[in-house]
Amino acid sequence: MDARDIRLLVDTLADRIIAASDELTALDQAIGDGDHGINMKRGFAAVKADAEAMAAGDLPAALHKLGMTLVMKVGGASGPLYGTLFMALGKAMPPDPDRADVTSALSSAIAAVKARGKSEVGQKTLLDVLDPVHRALAAGADADALRTAARAAAEATIPLKATRGRASFLGERSIGHMDPGARSSEIMVDAVLDALEQRS
Ligand code: ADP
Ligand code: MG
Repeated sequence: MDARDIRLLVDTLADRIIAASDELTALDQAIGDGDHGINMKRGFAAVKADAEAMAAGDLPAALHKLGMTLVMKVGGASGPLYGTLFMALGKAMPPDPDRADVTSALSSAIAAVKARGKSEVGQKTLLDVLDPVHRALAAGADADALRTAARAAAEATIPLKATRGRASFLGERSIGHMDPGARSSEIMVDAVLDALEQRS
């Protein structure tokens, strides 16, 4: 990926998350402390401010830097977790990844998030979107099928009872609401696919 592609990827991710800030906050108001949108907006505003420097290196370096920025700026539970995700992607990804590279990098990154969060799939977290998207990717899904998988996975968090993160304090009352981190992950998946489709 050249500097223009990296810039497009970083900007698209940041713009989409910033635009969804109110929606993410509303979701977190229902089952958390209402800061997910604000946390993510702060983090991705910092990412956007640094996008030119990120695009000056190769893709692995850009992903790693993006992850570091999220760790420093997002805060909450999601900052270290998304930070870990992007840093691990940077570590595992070659400069010009093909589908197999992305699939295996996402697999290592999900493992890193699980280790960091002491969490598993099925606990009503962002892993409940990342894992199904990884499985769809491994199964050969095209961009539209990946978008559909991400959407369906975020919606499938609605009936789940949270057993990790702040929402788990609500027990049964966490049922009936979409997990905010699942929704932000879905938005990121969409953003990445859209940016890749717009590439030169
Ligand atoms: P906080 O919960 O500290 O207020 P945020 O509101 O920014 O942080 O993020 C909440 C989201 O983080 C949740 O919706 C969930 O998807 C995710 N999350 C929280 N704890 C974990 C965990 N241990 N493992 C994976 N994801 C988690
Ligand atoms: Mg919160």
